[in-house]
Amino acid sequence: MDCAISRKKDSGAIFHMPIVSSDMFLGSILRTIEVKEGNSTKMLEKYHTDLSLVLMDDSTAQDLVCNACIRPINSPPYYTCGAHSQCNFLLHKFCVDLPLSIQDFLYTSVTKNLISPRLDEFFSLFRCCSCKKYCNGFGYVFGGSDSIFVDDVECSFAPRVIKHDSHKHHPLILTDTSSGIESWKSCCGKSCFYGYCCGLCNFTIHIDCARLPKTVAHKFDKHPLTLTFASSNSTDIDDICEFCEEDIDSKYWFYHCAQCDQSFHVKCIPSQGEFSKIKFGGSVKVPCHEDHPLTLARMMNLGSQRCGYCHEIIKGFKDGMALHCQDCDFWIHFYCGYRSCHGNISPPYKVYTL
Ligand SMILES: [Zn+2]
Ligand SMILES: [Zn+2]
Ligand SMILES: [Zn+2]
Ligand SMILES: [Zn+2]
Ligand SMILES: [Zn+2]
Ligand SMILES: [Zn+2]
Ligand SMILES: [Zn+2]
Ligand SMILES: [Zn+2]
Repeated sequence: MDCAISRKKDSGAIFHMPIVSSDMFLGSILRTIEVKEGNSTKMLEKYHTDLSLVLMDDSTAQDLVCNACIRPINSPPYYTCGAHSQCNFLLHKFCVDLPLSIQDFLYTSVTKNLISPRLDEFFSLFRCCSCKKYCNGFGYVFGGSDSIFVDDVECSFAPRVIKHDSHKHHPLILTDTSSGIESWKSCCGKSCFYGYCCGLCNFTIHIDCARLPKTVAHKFDKHPLTLTFASSNSTDIDDICEFCEEDIDSKYWFYHCAQCDQSFHVKCIPSQGEFSKIKFGGSVKVPCHEDHPLTLARMMNLGSQRCGYCHEIIKGFKDGMALHCQDCDFWIHFYCGYRSCHGNISPPYKVYTL
């Protein structure tokens, strides 16, 4: 993402989606807001009392993920923690200067305040109110700092009006759709309170589905995969996902390679899946494995393992999370890690039993 993009006020813009490169998305969107005074550096004091950020210009570094917006950092410069070389705390240049408060994208009289990751939560997870994805980045909260009404950084800067290739003839307007469940079937069938709607056609897509890039890469196909919209006259009812080998319901969107005639669920694309807003890594100590800290791992690219806590299988090659000790090759379910720490108290988020 190009964080050096100018931030001039441009709130009347209509964004044409899907965009060709997902990396540009947040950069483009951020042009729609006026940056207010202040920056997020003071939010970081929770991490390190001796916090110092260093501007890096290393173009050879790979797989860098910003701790604020959880988007890849594809080009320098970026900031990293100057005090602890192993902590992998990274920020886009833009994300260092996130405004301390913004207006809600829908209810503009509502002000939301920037919060840094919730270190009091297990792996700092919160659930974004707008896209319903779990996230351990920064967010904007409505209400007190322990409120559950948090949007992740990307959703906080969602544009009001977009043009989308899935509905070319009318603009789509960001709308509170909590009363109109009927219109949820266009992109993926999930329920959600917000969406981009065409009032004329009763057509709605989710805020995160609107952001799906036009093309994505997947290691199972050497070509770029193209986002394919559902077509009402499609006779090709079902396809099989090349990754998970489960059916693809072609009334919802999916990714396709025409050369190889291969299809993939959106949820099976790592950069777009259910856990794509979580920065993996990090570590916690849990009582059931006291010797070493456990690291948060994504099971999408890993084989199945047996949980050292409940002894059930942790399924690999699915978008799930688990905790891992590399020294001992010890694995536990994410939820079992939580239970080991908290007994039988229910976690404040969805229970991951994969
Ligand atoms: Zn960022
Ligand atoms: Zn979100
Ligand atoms: Zn959707
Ligand atoms: Zn329409
Ligand atoms: Zn799949
Ligand atoms: Zn291909
Ligand atoms: Zn378990
Ligand atoms: Zn260990």
